[in-house]
Amino acid sequence: MFPHLKNFNLKQWIDENRGSWGQRRVIWEDSDFIAFVTRGPNSRKDFHINPGDEIFHQLEGELNLHYMQGKNHEIAVLKPGEMFLLPANVPHSPRRGDGSWTFVVERKRGPEERDHFVWFCESCGEKLYDMTVRFDDPSDAVKTATEKIRSDAKLRTCGRCGEVLAA
Ligand SMILES: [Zn+2]
Repeated sequence: MFPHLKNFNLKQWIDENRGSWGQRRVIWEDSDFIAFVTRGPNSRKDFHINPGDEIFHQLEGELNLHYMQGKNHEIAVLKPGEMFLLPANVPHSPRRGDGSWTFVVERKRGPEERDHFVWFCESCGEKLYDMTVRFDDPSDAVKTATEKIRSDAKLRTCGRCGEVLAA
């Protein structure tokens, strides 16, 4: 994590560490904001619901930011240099290919706030599965839920239209 009241070069930091980046590296989280850089490739069907706003700034490559407006599935394609404000509580699923790098800012959650991860029917937008997590470290819970959904076709079958979400 970087100190406060001190500038640093984001581009240089990425260039020096891109070989060992992992999925995501935090810049600050000891603040009202959580700032991090995340990169592709990733593979996900879940949608994140954040009780706070999220700001995306695409650094390199493209980001396919899937999001739901009610039962409508929308996709914003962010190109390098583009920014995007995702308002609180909008289900979103950032999907990236190799070479996609994004700077993201989120608000720190209050003690009562919970995030959701939701799976939707890709045919009609009906909610298939909804899990609640405390933001601090949802990665394992989300991973477990993802495995559960992948291994159980019943959980991926839409109660409304019968469509089965691909595992
Ligand atoms: Zn459906």
